[in-house]
This record gives sequence, structure tokens and C-alpha cells, in this order.
Amino acid sequence: MLPRPVLQKIQEELIDWQNLQQSVLEIGHRTTAFTDFVLSVEAKLRQILNIPTNYEVIFLPGGANLQFAAIPLNLLGKNSNAAYVDTGIWSRRAIMEAQRYGKVQVVASAEPEDNFVPAQTTWADFKNAAYLHYTANETISGVEFPFIPDTGSVPLVVDMTSNLLMNTLDVNRFGLIYAATQKNIGIGGLSLVIIRNDLLSQAMPSVPSVLDYAKQVEAHSRYNTPPTFAIYVTNLILDWINEQGGLATLEKINRRKADKLYQCIDDSDGFYHNGIEPICRSLANVVFTLPDEKLEQLFAEEAAQQGLLNLRGHRVVGGIRASIYNAMPEEGVDKLVAFMHQFQLKNSDR
Ligand SMILES: *Cc1c(COP(=O)(O)O)cnc(C)c1O
Repeated sequence: MLPRPVLQKIQEELIDWQNLQQSVLEIGHRTTAFTDFVLSVEAKLRQILNIPTNYEVIFLPGGANLQFAAIPLNLLGKNSNAAYVDTGIWSRRAIMEAQRYGKVQVVASAEPEDNFVPAQTTWADFKNAAYLHYTANETISGVEFPFIPDTGSVPLVVDMTSNLLMNTLDVNRFGLIYAATQKNIGIGGLSLVIIRNDLLSQAMPSVPSVLDYAKQVEAHSRYNTPPTFAIYVTNLILDWINEQGGLATLEKINRRKADKLYQCIDDSDGFYHNGIEPICRSLANVVFTLPDEKLEQLFAEEAAQQGLLNLRGHRVVGGIRASIYNAMPEEGVDKLVAFMHQFQLKNSDR
């Protein structure tokens, strides 16, 4: 979901953006207005995440799946060995894509249960890899890394599509951070890439120009026509984040939201069940099951009648999933918790 005030602002501004007598849907991406605008969005993100000056920020078309390819294409030009940690479905997608461009070593895997993050002490050695990739939050299974891996001189690459901007972050620990924007930072079709500038010179010659990080840095994300409307929405989200008090405040609210739901699950005498190792429980995606699939269906249907939408788990895993990204207000979580209590009372004897 998007914050209500952001949707309202889009509606208000849609016909005439910045008094230019044009809609943001019409504005040329090479105009001074839009060029300055992209720079200002970048500056805003830098301030919110406290991004050091030796990192570049680019906005790229396409989602995270396109970055699964862009990363090896940009980083495996000199050393074709990449290390990946497998903690679930999104890790595996990233691994599959990287295997098309280089040699991939899976240093640790959470299969078959996908309900934990393997401790770093158990990982295979990866000191000869061009980078190590991990998925900070497995959106589908609800498993989140409880630590930032320590990779020494090997650049650390992270998919933060479902948790970037939900809490404070030490950008210095990473070589590259990327996120598609549709979960917490806007709408579909756009990805954010934050890359340490020493990593801009190791692309494979075959990298498509649009995906070439160095070219996009040089062009300030306008090598070709970027998804202008998606960047516009992201800017409104960044303003909204600042209005909320920034990442430290959002982190507190997000922690409270997640704690309330996990507490409700753990206090339900097994009626609701979340099998994730407690320290790896996701801040963004609270997954749980009920005693049987019929009850899960009934749960989702009755919840929807009360305005609690999109609670079905991802189609490949089933169950229930409450995605409580930044835009989900704490009152929404309170309402869900109240509904869960009520639903259990009504159905636990069946
Ligand atoms: C949603 C998601 C993706 C996929 O993003 P697309 O923009 O659909 O390619 C990848 N990784 C994570 C962690 C996600 O949550």
C-alpha cells in the first residue's frame, strides 16, 4: 500500500506539476525541471539514509529481477566467481540469474524449511569471490537476516527490496544495495541502486548500456528515458518518510507493529503458527498458518469484509501473510490483531 497522503498528493498534482502547465506524466525527461528533480530526489535519499560521498545512487528501469542480471553483468567482468547465500525464493531467483553470467558458489542454504538464516560461522569460504550476495528479507517466507554479514574485503551485495527504508542502516558496510521500489519506496517498474564507486569499473563488456551502472551514474540515471512517474512517486514517499520523523522513528513504529502480531501468534496456543526461528522473524512480512486450509480461506475472507486486505500468503507457499511495510499504519495492525483474537474465539473449537 501507499500512504494515503501520497495518493492524495498525486491526485492533486496530476494535471499540473510544479506550475509547468504540464502533468508529470507528460514532462520530458531531458527538461531542466526533470533533470533538477532527479538530482533532488537523489539528494533526499542521501540525507535520509546518510549515504557517504563515495557511493553513487542510481534509479534504473525494471524491478529487482532485472538487477539479478545487472549485478553479475556489472561485477563479474574481471573475476567471474560470485558467492550467494540462499535463504529462500528470492535468493534462489537471484542465484539462477547469476548462473547465466558467471560461476556461482552457494556458500550456505536454508533449505528445505527456509525458516532460518544460517549463521555465518557455518558458511563455506568465499574469499576469492568478486562479491557476496544475500537477500536481507525473504518477503515470501518472512525470514530476515538478523545480522549484516562480515565479508572482509569481498564486496557485500544486498537485495533490500522488501526492507530498505524500514529502519536505519549503515551503508558503509555494503558494496552495493539495491531495491525495487514497489514494496516500501513507491510503485513497480523502478529500482534503486546504491553502489560504492570503486565497483564501477568491473563490468562485463556485454552489459546492456541501460543496465551499465557506470553509464547510468554518468548520465544521472537518464541514459535513456527513465520511469519518470515512478521516480516522482518515490520522491513523494521520501517526503512522507521525512514527515514521519525519518528512519529512526519508522523503525520504532515498525518494530512495535511486528511485535504486536508475533505476540498475538505466540499467545494463541498454537491456533496461529509461525515457524520462523525467532531472531529471524521478518519486520515486514509476518507469515502464519491456521489449523487447516479451509480456516485460512475463511480467515482471509472474513478479514477482507472488515477491510483487512491482501492477507493470503504468496501463491507458492500458501498460508497467511501480513505485509506491514512502512505505509501500513499501526492502527491497521491493531485492527488485525483484534480480528485475529475474535476469529480464534469463534473457530478454535472446530
Ligand atoms: C518483490 C521482491 C523481488 C522481486 O521484485 P520485482 O520488481 O518483481 O522483480 C525481489 N526480491 C525481493 C526481496 C522482493 O521482495
